[in-house]
Amino acid sequence: MTNDKIWLSSPHMGGNELKYIHEAFAENWIAPLGPNVSGFESDIQKYLKGNVEVAALSSGTAALHLALIMLGVSQDDEVLCQSMTFAASANPIRYLGANPVFIDSESKTLNICPEQLENAIEDRIKKGKKPKAIVAVHLYGMPYQVDEVHKIAAKYDIPVIEDAAEALGSTYKGKNCGTFGELAILSFNGNKIITTSGGGALVAKTEQMKQKAVFLATQARDNAPHYQHSEIGYNYRLSNISAGIGRGQMEVLDDRVHTRREMFDFYVNLFRDIDGVRLFSEPSADYFSNHWLSVITIDSEVTGFSREDLREALAALNIECRPLWKPMHMQPVFADSPFYGTGVAERMFEDGLCLPSGSNLSDSDRSRISTAIKSHLKK
Ligand SMILES: *Cc1c(COP(=O)(O)O)cnc(C)c1O
Repeated sequence: MTNDKIWLSSPHMGGNELKYIHEAFAENWIAPLGPNVSGFESDIQKYLKGNVEVAALSSGTAALHLALIMLGVSQDDEVLCQSMTFAASANPIRYLGANPVFIDSESKTLNICPEQLENAIEDRIKKGKKPKAIVAVHLYGMPYQVDEVHKIAAKYDIPVIEDAAEALGSTYKGKNCGTFGELAILSFNGNKIITTSGGGALVAKTEQMKQKAVFLATQARDNAPHYQHSEIGYNYRLSNISAGIGRGQMEVLDDRVHTRREMFDFYVNLFRDIDGVRLFSEPSADYFSNHWLSVITIDSEVTGFSREDLREALAALNIECRPLWKPMHMQPVFADSPFYGTGVAERMFEDGLCLPSGSNLSDSDRSRISTAIKSHLKK
């Protein structure tokens, strides 16, 4: 048996990606526009169903930046943001000189806690500032409590930016993640369920909103024969080469979701009778996760080992695991930002571990993972 590195989540090509890239070369569409960009956008639109319009962009972070701009967020505004997430969910708030207010997770889905969200809204309004937007994340592919979160958002009339970077292929009550927010974002970074090497998308409700995003993403050029600008623009469009990879990947997305869910089932079996280890699963039939990453929490008082013990044991065998995202309110760069919560995200960060979940893991990889984990559990 080889000892090659087993990654947490690595790119997995479908086979047709190069065909689309060759077409781009043949037609000289070596640019941030072209048939692959339009084709990729329409593939995503069809996949998401729902009445949405998609703008392909250079990254998920760029999509979040534009989403905040389009919702009118500017200097000194406040934006509510799930604390337990990747820094890219929060950084664009600061790009605009606005301030994030972080919200704890609930322990069913690991995502933004509706109770703490409402607490925070009431308190910020009492302090004199109504938040401009809510950034809610479907972490590791698990949908957040969509009905509860959007009900609160509607009650206070605050738009939701849905960060579906990790959740393409996940659904809530049969509807696709990426279609719930006022605006939603997707990511096609190298570690995501499908990848364009680097890339993202903004999902809008109307053609007009999509065109606004494309306008901002292409240097905000006014309609004139010369270069005329009455707004600040960005260079955020997706390359036609990268979009070619995306078109190939969209052909196999359902397959990738299926295989990631099989990886999850593999861990269900592995941890079935293990006290003190909890595998994060869908809380009810309303939730369908793409299981981008399979996540466990370890109660070290029961198991006798911590998540770091297990992570290090697996790392020694060249098997990559990662702690969960370190909550934003615990990050040095956001030390001054307000936080509303009761310690749920902090505990998850202490006890949680992401396990190798790639759709390209072989039977022999799975058997190495299984042997390694079982032998650690026996100790
Ligand atoms: C990956 C990711 C992003 C950012 O996407 P990029 O394409 O890497 O810029 C944003 N939010 C979450 C939750 C992510 O996992």
